[in-house]
Amino acid sequence: MMLQAAPNPLMKVENLVVEYSVGGKTIHAVSDVSLEIARGETLGLVGESGCGKSTLGRAVLQLRQAVSGKVLFDGHDLTTLKGEPLRKMRRRVQLIFQDPIASLNPRRRIGDIVAEPLVIAGVKDPEERKRRVSEVLSAVGLDPALVSGRLPHEFSGGQCQRICIARSLVLNPEFVICDEPVSALDVSIRAQILNLLEEMKARYGLTLLFIAHDLAVVKAVSDRVAVMYLGRLCEVGPSEQLFARPAHPYTALLIEAIPVPDPDVRPTQSVPVGEPPSPIAPPSGCRFRTRCPRADARCSSEVPELRLVASGQFAACHHPLV
Ligand code: SF4
Repeated sequence: MMLQAAPNPLMKVENLVVEYSVGGKTIHAVSDVSLEIARGETLGLVGESGCGKSTLGRAVLQLRQAVSGKVLFDGHDLTTLKGEPLRKMRRRVQLIFQDPIASLNPRRRIGDIVAEPLVIAGVKDPEERKRRVSEVLSAVGLDPALVSGRLPHEFSGGQCQRICIARSLVLNPEFVICDEPVSALDVSIRAQILNLLEEMKARYGLTLLFIAHDLAVVKAVSDRVAVMYLGRLCEVGPSEQLFARPAHPYTALLIEAIPVPDPDVRPTQSVPVGEPPSPIAPPSGCRFRTRCPRADARCSSEVPELRLVASGQFAACHHPLV
């Protein structure tokens, strides 16, 4: 089922399948995923580590080749583009990585790192590059005169993530994939970076795909949330509605496991129970059935399709909670 987010979505993923081989075995990383992201929207993509959410983000950017399916950006199928047309389209779609320190070349100065996408894009005028670099560094709260000539090791993790955000914005993209942008940072500075992303979204009119394993973070920034389990989407819906009334048992268990910041509240047992099955041999039928308290015989024989369960809310479950 195609999930309608808007009449004219900026990004549309259709029946995307991504598989790769490890040690001669096939990993089913993304299985028949369809998603739409409206212009100006933040879609949170959440799931346990290894569920395929980062692979999906990379496949959207064409950094990971899909076996089948389409990735339509502003109506253009990125999976069919090659060479210069793909490079041109990629300028409009950028990625912010999880580990800001590792993603900055330690031997290059900050001004050159942030200018690099402009060089690759063929902006030849050094003054124009300098002007643009200064503009984005200022936008992310850094003084261009102080930071441009320095090296990455002179900055904290939070400052490095600001530099990465500046680099991702220097080409004026429309769509940014944020892949776990705060999970490598100190808890004390996560809120600052999330606020900065919100500010940048408003200032530059961005559309965001925000990938994270931390539901509390996703809840704070997303208009809608998509929940992924073992390569498949389980649930998609408006953020507040999905957190208030989850329809998929997996979503409900993830929400129960969000820590409550109160010393008198005992933490819920780590749920869902057990480890996820291997993406090499996912369970038949519903992939969540081996950990689901509501599983029955139908769940092992029939793959549940995403279907509408409430206004704007879709769940792939034979026995949804709403
Ligand atoms: S389809 Fe069955 S196993 Fe899967 S989440 Fe729903 S109830 Fe649980």
